[in-house]
Amino acid sequence: MICLRITGTMFYYYFVCQRKLWYFVNNITLEQENENVLLGKLIDESSYGREDKQVLIDETVNVDFIKDWKVLHEVKKSKSIEEASMWQVKYYIYFLRQRGIKIEKGVLDYPKIKQRKEVLLTKQDEKEIEEILHSIEKIVIQEKSPEVIDSKICRACAYYEFCYI
Ligand code: SF4
Repeated sequence: MICLRITGTMFYYYFVCQRKLWYFVNNITLEQENENVLLGKLIDESSYGREDKQVLIDETVNVDFIKDWKVLHEVKKSKSIEEASMWQVKYYIYFLRQRGIKIEKGVLDYPKIKQRKEVLLTKQDEKEIEEILHSIEKIVIQEKSPEVIDSKICRACAYYEFCYI
């Protein structure tokens, strides 16, 4: 039984870095100051002007837009952490289907490089998502943050100074 409201961002951070997830849920947020995040927001705001955008579902997940309530889209500025993006979209499909919205598939949009990637949700993915949701719950209630991951992605992370300096 999942009792926390687990957002798409939390799900994404679970795959990027669990320490980042922990910082985020503990309200240590530096994202607005990070140039990479600002660039991502600009792309979000300028690329899909004619579509209905940013659909907030059940006050928990914020989907970039949903075409005909069948195909959901998530806009990303780069493919750098694509596995995390893919799982975020799978989680959105799962979340909406759980609430009776018959989403057929997801699409990751990369307007900056003019590419798209289709994302499907399998039965096996659903089981994995349920396990991941439990893992996220365990991480967010930990008293101490998880260890630094010492990865090349750290250099572009808003929490870099917190972790290394
Ligand atoms: S700097 Fe690295 S270890 Fe620290 S939160 Fe960011 S990604 Fe995680």
